[in-house]
Amino acid sequence: MMKKGTQLYEGKAKKVYLTDDPDVLIVDYKDDATAFNGEKKGTIVGKGAINNRMSNYLFKQLEKEGIPTHLIEELSDRETAVKKVSIVPLEVIVRNVAAGSFSKRLGVPEGTEFTEPTIEFSYKNDELGDPLINDYFARALNLASWAEIETIKKYALKINEVLKEFFLAAELRLIDFKIEFGRYHGTIILADEISPDTCRLWDVHTNEKMDKDRFRRDLGNVEEAYQEVMKRIGLL
Ligand code: ADP
Ligand code: UDP
Repeated sequence: MMKKGTQLYEGKAKKVYLTDDPDVLIVDYKDDATAFNGEKKGTIVGKGAINNRMSNYLFKQLEKEGIPTHLIEELSDRETAVKKVSIVPLEVIVRNVAAGSFSKRLGVPEGTEFTEPTIEFSYKNDELGDPLINDYFARALNLASWAEIETIKKYALKINEVLKEFFLAAELRLIDFKIEFGRYHGTIILADEISPDTCRLWDVHTNEKMDKDRFRRDLGNVEEAYQEVMKRIGLL
């Protein structure tokens, strides 16, 4: 079994370790939760294990649909071996329904359904607070090539189609989500995670929020919501 080496990085939600294989990292999911660029801090008990299992499960489904991902192997409750990529410093956000910063910035009521999905890019830079940019800005900052940007957009929309259908079968509406991509030996692959930390999921019948907004907005029953999503997708 793959062994953890030196810690490479500790982020807000995960720790990342080197291994004896230069192409492989081990990510270790924490229960720590942050919001508003780290201003709000807390713990969601059991979140690390849930996000690890859910993200790996979703990445497996996406692989089956032709999306290359960093997933190698789940090692334990909280630990997964992944392909070490060079992260493209873009937060790629796909939205099906207006919510969060989109609603705030543009004055569109939360819950307004779009006629087609939309893609948004933020520059992944904590000091600047992950500012909203467009693809021309991504080029100006030399964050990715045009070919990479096109690949990222194509994958992002395909991921949305797969996940939308998948969550709908679990009676959840996929409102929006954030993904990250990386370069692995010259090709773009899906990295980081997909979980209730990075998605908005609303109950199809009641529109009850079943994701990190429960933590961000102090709605209570945060742990219960994460567990309920796991149950509905058959992982608990
Ligand atoms: P943050 O950095 O936003 O606090 P996390 O706590 O989730 O986020 O930390 C995980 C870090 O690891 C992120 O910076 C993410 O971009 C990076 N990462 C995710 N997957 C990979 C990978 N396969 N290879 C290299 N880095 C990765
Ligand atoms: N998101 C994320 N990490 C971030 C910012 C956003 O995972 O640093 C996710 C968030 O959970 C939501 C989607 O991206 O599913 C869109 O978030 P939005 O831009 O509306 O920002 P927020 O309201 O979370 O500040």
